[in-house]
Amino acid sequence: MQIKPEPTQHWQKSLAEGFNDLAQLCQYLEISPTALNHPLTAPAVFPLRVPLSFAACMEKGNPNDPLLRQVLPVTEELIDYPGYNADPVGDLAANTAIGLIHKYHGRALIITTGACAINCRYCFRRNFPYAEVQLTKSRLDSTLKYIKQHTELTEIILSGGDPLLLNDERLDELIIQLNTLKHIQRIRIHSRIPVVLPERITPELLSILSSSSQKIILVLHANHANELSPAVANVCRQLSQNNITLLNQSVLLKGVNDSVLALCTLSEKLFNLGVLPYYLHVLDKATGTGHFEVSTQVALEVYRQLQTLLPGYLVPKLVTEQAGAAYKMPLN
Ligand code: SF4
Repeated sequence: MQIKPEPTQHWQKSLAEGFNDLAQLCQYLEISPTALNHPLTAPAVFPLRVPLSFAACMEKGNPNDPLLRQVLPVTEELIDYPGYNADPVGDLAANTAIGLIHKYHGRALIITTGACAINCRYCFRRNFPYAEVQLTKSRLDSTLKYIKQHTELTEIILSGGDPLLLNDERLDELIIQLNTLKHIQRIRIHSRIPVVLPERITPELLSILSSSSQKIILVLHANHANELSPAVANVCRQLSQNNITLLNQSVLLKGVNDSVLALCTLSEKLFNLGVLPYYLHVLDKATGTGHFEVSTQVALEVYRQLQTLLPGYLVPKLVTEQAGAAYKMPLN
C-alpha cells in the first residue's frame, strides 16, 4: 500500500515521553529509592527505558513488583558470573549477510533495528553491536539478494531490537519487498511493542500488516499476566481481526515469573486474548543478566507442575538456545 509521509504520531510522542530516569520512575510509582534493592542509578551502558503504558501496569508502592524488576537496573548487573558472555547464543557467528542471521533451516532473521521501546534488563541482545549488523537502507539490497538465493527459506523473521519501532514507511517497504519473493510463505514478527506500547498498533499499522500477501505471525513477548492490560487486550483483538496469528514467548526469570501460579495465570490470560503460549525460554547467559537465572532443577519442577495443571495447548515449550545447534533445545 502507499503510505503518506508521517508527521510525528501519538505513539512516537508516547515513546519519547517514557521514563529514562530512575528518580522519576520511583516518584511515579510512589516508591522511595531507598526501598529498592541495590539500584544502579546511572548504568554506563543499557540505560533505563520504560514506556508509561508499561509502568502503568506496575503496582504502586511495591519495590518488588515483577514488572519493575524486569526494567530496574541493579548493581548485580556488574557481577561477572561464570559462563556469561556478550553473545550467548552465537548470533554474530550466524550473521551471514549484513543485517541477517541465518541459523536454522527454512527460516532466517532480519535485524531490522537496534531500537526498543523498553530496555529489558535480562535481554540476551543487550550487548549486541547493532550499529554494525542492523538492516539499513543501503544494506537492504544485499539482504534481499541473500534471501532470493536461498530458496529453501520459507519464513522470514523480523526481529531487532523491535521491528515495530520502524516507522510505517520503512516497515511497509520491507514487507512489500518480501512479498515479491515467491518462496517466502510467512513473515514472523517478534515484538514486545503490543505489550509495552500498545498505542503503536495504529489503524495504519494494521493496514500494512493485513495488506501482506504472505501470512503474518506476530510473536508477542509478555512474561507476567500483569503486563496484559485492557489496552493490550484491545490491540490483540484488533490484530486477530486482521487475520494475524498471535503467539507469545516468555523468558523464565527469577523474581518475575518463576512460580507455577505466575505462569499458569499468564497462559490463561494470554489465551483469553487470543494468544497462544509458544515458548518459555530459559535465560540466555548474557553478561549482566545473571541475577535472573533460575536453576535447571527449579525450572523443570515448575514446568512439570505446569503440565499437570494446564491443558497441553496452554503449556509453552520450555527451551534453551545453544550456539551452533540446529534448533531450540527442549530443556525437559
Ligand atoms: S524488547 Fe526484546 S530486544 Fe528489546 S530489550 Fe526487551 S527483550 Fe531485548
